[in-house]
Amino acid sequence: MAWDFSTEPEFQAQLDWVDEFCRTEVEPLDLVFPGAAYSRNPKAKALADPLKQQVKDRGLWALFLDRDLGGPGFGQLKLALLNEILGRYRSAPVVFGTAAPDTGNMEMLAAYGTDEQKRRWLSPLMNQEIFSAYSMTEPQGGSDPSLFKTRATRDGDEWVITGEKWFTSAGAFADIIFVMCVNGMFVVPRQTPGVEIAEHPALHNHIRYNNVRVPADHLLGPEDGAKVLAQRRLGGGRIHHAMRTVAQVKLAFDIMCERALSRESHGKVIAEHQMVAEAIADSYAEINMLRLLVLWTAWTIDNSSTRESRTQIAACKYTCAKVLREVSYRALHIMGSLGTTDLTPLQAMWAAAPTMAIADGVDEVHKVTVARNVLKGYEPHPGLWPTEYLPAKREEARKKYAGLIAADPDLAAWADAASRGSRSRLGGR
Ligand SMILES: Cc1cc2nc3c(=O)[nH]c(=O)nc-3n(C[C@H](O)[C@H](O)[C@H](O)COP(=O)(O)OP(=O)(O)OC[C@H]3O[C@@H](n4cnc5c(N)ncnc54)[C@H](O)[C@@H]3O)c2cc1C
Repeated sequence: MAWDFSTEPEFQAQLDWVDEFCRTEVEPLDLVFPGAAYSRNPKAKALADPLKQQVKDRGLWALFLDRDLGGPGFGQLKLALLNEILGRYRSAPVVFGTAAPDTGNMEMLAAYGTDEQKRRWLSPLMNQEIFSAYSMTEPQGGSDPSLFKTRATRDGDEWVITGEKWFTSAGAFADIIFVMCVNGMFVVPRQTPGVEIAEHPALHNHIRYNNVRVPADHLLGPEDGAKVLAQRRLGGGRIHHAMRTVAQVKLAFDIMCERALSRESHGKVIAEHQMVAEAIADSYAEINMLRLLVLWTAWTIDNSSTRESRTQIAACKYTCAKVLREVSYRALHIMGSLGTTDLTPLQAMWAAAPTMAIADGVDEVHKVTVARNVLKGYEPHPGLWPTEYLPAKREEARKKYAGLIAADPDLAAWADAASRGSRSRLGGR
């Protein structure tokens, strides 16, 4: 029987360990020393590095990379199950070596880098000796590559990059930035003269590349290959975001259910008010619909490729934003006044929903992709009537019974009544 929703016991044991480890080690670190897992401060590293080592010892480090790309090769389905836990804790992805934007950049390097580029950047990224950022979106062009202007010009043994990008997440902290130019993808060390980082926005940086010179071998993949590399990068990234969103909405749901059973109002516990029950029931169904969509997509990637799973990945992208918006809002609302503060995770979770609908391409673009790809499997109906126009179908079906109808007046009356849309004596029983 091929349809199977169970997790193999060996991997379930790993997941149980991850659950316990995140609750007892990662969350306390997050609460008391926020940002320690990302920090280069020696005292922070002394706290976080032993946790990362434990993950490596369990064979769970950088789980997103396939074996042929240098990772453990667990595949996307197992990564999805792992991310259903990691996504609950702010620094768990970095403790497990699966944090964006490094993951997507590593995928690009693993797939398109030369041996020398992998040695120079992939290994240090995997070991978190360096961090990276991804510079694609432009102020005047958003994420529509046809409007991009940033260009690299060849000058002897160097490329000279000129252009302007913004919303480069963690650009100001990165050691290297992957810069998408109209004529190729380039790796730019942040300290290179001409890289100018504006004051705003603070975390998602606005960067001007003013005649930035990089050696010729900083071109990643083929010249003019930037769009292909970007697709490779973003495809994986989007499904990883969706996996972590499953964790977030499950957390919101847990908070909602606990609250519904704990608070009494107008004579009964609020879980017994029907509209609260409806919020719980709708959230339960929506979370499981999202989860199954994400797991099915991960399974499809494992059994084909990211490219062949593009329609499903796009559907995950906008569905996770929608479910996050709906479920986090309901949980926040049921939490009452406390929900509107930053004293629970709910306010930040709800505020993250618009970001989910915008980052990695706005929802509208992904919905159009889904509709366009789905419609490739359809054709317009040839004649006047839709294929499912019942009178025409019935007329066609009558031919199958022509002999019977001709021989038996009762059956003929029945079939004639069906054609008129009424019930005959025989059919009405
Ligand atoms: C928190 C965050 C982190 C980010 N990190 C990065 C990063 O690390 N690197 C990077 O390069 N970029 C990053 N981005 C940028 C992100 O990819 C872009 O914001 C996104 O692709 C949309 O571009 P835009 O903001 O210019 O929106 P716009 O293109 O201006 O779109 C605005 C609105 O116009 C409408 N619209 C636009 N296009 C269409 C369309 N084709 N069909 C229908 N309606 C449309 C939609 O309503 C859309 O919401 C990040 C963004 C956020 C919010």
